[in-house]
Amino acid sequence: MIKLAIIGDPVEHSLSPVIHSAVMEYLGIDYEYYRVQVKKGDLAQFLERVRREDITGFNLTMPHKTDIIPFLDEIDSEAKVYNSVNTVKYENGWLSGYSTDADGYKEALAEAGYSMRGKRVVILGAGGVSGTIVSKAAREGAVSITVLNRTLEKAEQVIKCAEGCSCRADVLSDENMRACAREADVLVNATPLGMTGVAHNFENLDFLAELPKDALVSDLIYSPRKTAFLKRAEELGRNTINGFGMLIYQALIADEIYLGRKLDLHALKAYVEEKCFG
Ligand code: NAP
Repeated sequence: MIKLAIIGDPVEHSLSPVIHSAVMEYLGIDYEYYRVQVKKGDLAQFLERVRREDITGFNLTMPHKTDIIPFLDEIDSEAKVYNSVNTVKYENGWLSGYSTDADGYKEALAEAGYSMRGKRVVILGAGGVSGTIVSKAAREGAVSITVLNRTLEKAEQVIKCAEGCSCRADVLSDENMRACAREADVLVNATPLGMTGVAHNFENLDFLAELPKDALVSDLIYSPRKTAFLKRAEELGRNTINGFGMLIYQALIADEIYLGRKLDLHALKAYVEEKCFG
């Protein structure tokens, strides 16, 4: 039997149990899934449980993605670059950490027929996920990456994740968003602006009208499925993609790690989407 968990604080809202349970059922694998509230500073205690109960692996959400790193025996190259781990596998007494967010995003883009290769990528926000997208965009061959953020220092920090491509950091202002939109092939919202339960939203979405006609507008938010940001982009005739595909693909890639084998990601995504969210 496989034992999986999601840990975080808060953790009640997480869709991970629904997604991973559906995957294990689809694959006919006997499993147990635990949703565990682990408060900041309590990781050592949880890891004792992992060893005691031989838990196969677990996903992490706030506030543990970076804090877990000193406890692990190894982390993969993606997690190292982002300094962030969202998946841990426990095998033969060894704890290995991975970051599957960026590959999940790449897979979601590919499914929609896009990639970041040769593209001018503009990212709004400079939090944990922004760093993973910046690094992935650089590795995928984006020609330029611009990060706009409320706190400039964090944008400056995040662009250090990118190697081998032209990068710029600036403040998230109306003026900068308008100027950057003019030269964006892919525009990504990596802030929580417009997310269910978040009081704040973009005050002005006029900058979206500046985007080239064939630009892709991507919101990492998956609740609601269509944010005001995406609605406005759609009204303006731009192609859009929400964060739902990324959410499911990062989970499926984590399942590949837990199971130690490749899965048919597209078939599983279709199944999970229909069964859990249809
Ligand atoms: P995070 O680390 O908390 O970073 C949030 C970023 O948004 C920061 O750069 C912050 O700016 C900015 N921000 C927050 N409130 C703002 C406001 N009122 N005005 C302007 N900027 C604001 O968050 P994260 O983990 O990177 O997640 C970012 C988004 O991605 C969230 O919406 C999350 O739901 C989504 N996400 C989606 C998936 C998926 O699978 N689809 C996975 C992970 C995350 P400062 O630096 O100035 O504070």
